[in-house]
Amino acid sequence: MQITNHITPNFTFSKMIPQKGLGSRIWDVDGKEYVDLSGGIAVNALGHCNPDLIEALTEQAKTLWHCSNIYTNLPSQELAKKLVDNSFADKVFFCNSGAEANEAAAKLARKYAHDNFGEKKARIITAINSFHGRTLFTVTLGGQKKYSEGFGPLPGAIDHVPFNDIEALEKAMGDDVCAIMLEPIQGESGVLPATREYLKAARDLATRHDALLILDEVQTGMGHTGKLFCHEHYGVLPDIMSSAKALGSGFPLAAMLATDKVAASFTPGSHGSTFGGNPLATAVGSKAFDLINSEATYKNIEARSKELMQRIDAIARETGVFTGARGMGLLVGAVLVPEKAGESGKLKDFALDEGVMVLQAGGNVVRFAPSLLITERDLAEGLDRFERAVKKYAAC
Ligand SMILES: *Cc1c(COP(=O)(O)O)cnc(C)c1O
Repeated sequence: MQITNHITPNFTFSKMIPQKGLGSRIWDVDGKEYVDLSGGIAVNALGHCNPDLIEALTEQAKTLWHCSNIYTNLPSQELAKKLVDNSFADKVFFCNSGAEANEAAAKLARKYAHDNFGEKKARIITAINSFHGRTLFTVTLGGQKKYSEGFGPLPGAIDHVPFNDIEALEKAMGDDVCAIMLEPIQGESGVLPATREYLKAARDLATRHDALLILDEVQTGMGHTGKLFCHEHYGVLPDIMSSAKALGSGFPLAAMLATDKVAASFTPGSHGSTFGGNPLATAVGSKAFDLINSEATYKNIEARSKELMQRIDAIARETGVFTGARGMGLLVGAVLVPEKAGESGKLKDFALDEGVMVLQAGGNVVRFAPSLLITERDLAEGLDRFERAVKKYAAC
């Protein structure tokens, strides 16, 4: 097929065009094969063309596609039950993207505060360098000006504080705050985990001020860190949480989860979505949930994570390009040394030439978010290719 240029220019044109995928391998339109360590940006948690997901999708496709949220549908009931049975939450709102889940989370926090404490309690505190999506509300919540510049006027009553700085968060708090919103690991800006003390302090401060803690687990959730949700590592429970990316493992699906007490403010008709919880999406999500939330998958994540981190540290020592690895489970960043700051995109292109797909996370970190089912052999092959790419990059 001839490639035209009818896509809006907010997306740049990629020189590699994937055509086919299987497990952790991708083939482009020229037939060149790649090891995929990018996982479609932490989405393809079960690899490409997973046979169990194909079966769940095709079975549902033969049964019922869409009926709107005027009617309850069975696959969404099933997935909601799995999410509730395995998390802090009592209620689930389904939607189609991470931004929509965060939009719902922030709207619910405002509505809850409004219903219980009056309209003055509306301020939301988020972190500098955070990423929460691309709707106007969520780019404003996100702590990166480059995503909101030029789109004003922006929604108000949103303050940004430095991440992992307890004192700054304390100072920013007040009784007019309705929510603190954080990523447990800042994904897009560099795979930077919150400290244990910071998340605990955020929890305590929120509680003390009758505010809610919203955790954005769009990237960190659904097994990527070695537990179903990342906050389980911290022993901190949110009031509201967003999930997307791996939730549908490649089918567009997102969710906002909340406690009963908070969810009660989403009264009938107060929020909605045409496609949210669509039977095709939730049938896939329900199967994906079972495959991710299993002993065998968590064991694989743990073993592969060790190999990945050790190998990045070894490449760092040998080449001097990285300071080392950070992150959790199979959401890992290789942090560039200060002299190479801003070069992660260039490294990603060297990797592509060697036949391995990796991600940038900001300018200073190369990010890995492979399939949670990646085999030892595929990971080793991908990292061999990555090492060759790093050496070529270092030599030029
Ligand atoms: C990807 C991401 C989003 C946005 O998700 P979309 O599906 O692109 O709207 C929000 N928050 C975090 C932490 C993300 O990684």
